[in-house]
Amino acid sequence: MSESKKIFLTETDIPRAWFNIIPSMPEKPAPMLNPATKKPLTAEDLFPLFSEEASRQEMNTTDSWIEIPDEVRDLYKIWRPTPLVRARGLEKALGTACHIYFKNESVSPVGSHKLNSAIPQAYYCKQQGVTNITTETGAGQWGAALSLATRMFGIDLAVYMVKISYNQKPYRRSIMQTYGAEVIASPSMSTKAGRKIITEHPNYQGSLGTAISEAVELAMSTPNCKYALGSVLNHVALHQTVIGLEAEKQMEIAGEYPDVVIGCFGGGSNFSGISFPFLRHNLSGERHSRFIAAEPMACPKLTRGAMRYDYGDEAGYTPLIPMLTLGHNFEPANIHAGGLRYHGAGAVVSSLKENGLIDAVDIPQLESFEAATVFAKSEGIIPAPESAHAIAAAIREARASDEAGTPKTILFNLSGHGLIDMASYDRYFAGDLANYTVSDEQIAANVETLPEV
Ligand SMILES: *Cc1c(COP(=O)(O)O)cnc(C)c1O
Repeated sequence: MSESKKIFLTETDIPRAWFNIIPSMPEKPAPMLNPATKKPLTAEDLFPLFSEEASRQEMNTTDSWIEIPDEVRDLYKIWRPTPLVRARGLEKALGTACHIYFKNESVSPVGSHKLNSAIPQAYYCKQQGVTNITTETGAGQWGAALSLATRMFGIDLAVYMVKISYNQKPYRRSIMQTYGAEVIASPSMSTKAGRKIITEHPNYQGSLGTAISEAVELAMSTPNCKYALGSVLNHVALHQTVIGLEAEKQMEIAGEYPDVVIGCFGGGSNFSGISFPFLRHNLSGERHSRFIAAEPMACPKLTRGAMRYDYGDEAGYTPLIPMLTLGHNFEPANIHAGGLRYHGAGAVVSSLKENGLIDAVDIPQLESFEAATVFAKSEGIIPAPESAHAIAAAIREARASDEAGTPKTILFNLSGHGLIDMASYDRYFAGDLANYTVSDEQIAANVETLPEV
């Protein structure tokens, strides 16, 4: 390889199809269930909620490749293909013999990977004449991405933003408003789900689960309105595979193949996006890479959750998903990686984890910020607090490989930049941040309340 650190592709290298991992899985995830009938869900059951095409993609267990519409691919060209970077600065800072690469998804106009799915979701809604979309957002990244995507197609958007982030990250709210979206702090008094939780817990700072309930409720009660979700579901993970498909080509140009692939983990979309294209070579027996999902210690569904049917939201409006979960009533600590404060993992990732095909680690908040500052100083990019979990896991991996005397090629996804999260960095520098963990009793008590199916 030359001295150049970045490996660029051209527009013609943007994938023409997304990769659907389900047909390649030796053991398929259990079906999602209709919450009313508790019967296996059909695509038609999802039509009231999502666009018909997104619903069909959600239930597609047979097609490994799903074509990316030209209109979507053209919009991807605004910032894709994203660079793959050999992190020589970070390698030097760590003094590691490992080769560390990262895929830089922070270069999208909204600063994260979320636009990869926001655009196709808005496009499929537009195609069937939808005029309004509702959604939720944690740290504001998904809301910002969908605000831009809906603007591209002339659709109106209402965003329920988790209250703690609404107050911690006012600029993400401004970004959504710049693109013309309406932003409401959640829990709010505008929905039944919001009013109920405010009545019971007046100081509740919100969670993704509650915000989803509010957005779903508004979508179901508004004509010609659909709901869009930024993570967890199969079709969202599917759209994100452009990340790994590009990275696969770029690693080939670099003349390397990753021994370890790492993504931070909220509901699983960027982890799935970077991992699944590489994981398919494990499933076919050609390769033996390790895949590591990095979640926050404050919200450890993959490492400590229970494999159960659970709702995707707090009020229980969504289909029942077979997931590794902390329970949909779980109230995560107010950590600054708002995009990782979600109670459960998507069905596919949960099943892969249960079958030992992927690993997970939980990262304490302070370790994530320490890793973020090491990365910023050595690579120049200030990472999102979410992405910092992937960096922390990559640093752990590099140190362990060096100690074992077996240097590895490590690839992680930089899911977003942190330029709008500087208030969180300020709190870290001021020594105001703490580590949060959850007791086994807390998890068990939460999981106990899950519906019997
Ligand atoms: C939303 C978000 C995440 C977490 O969501 P996943 O679906 O698990 O990828 C991670 N990083 C950033 C920058 C995000 O915006």
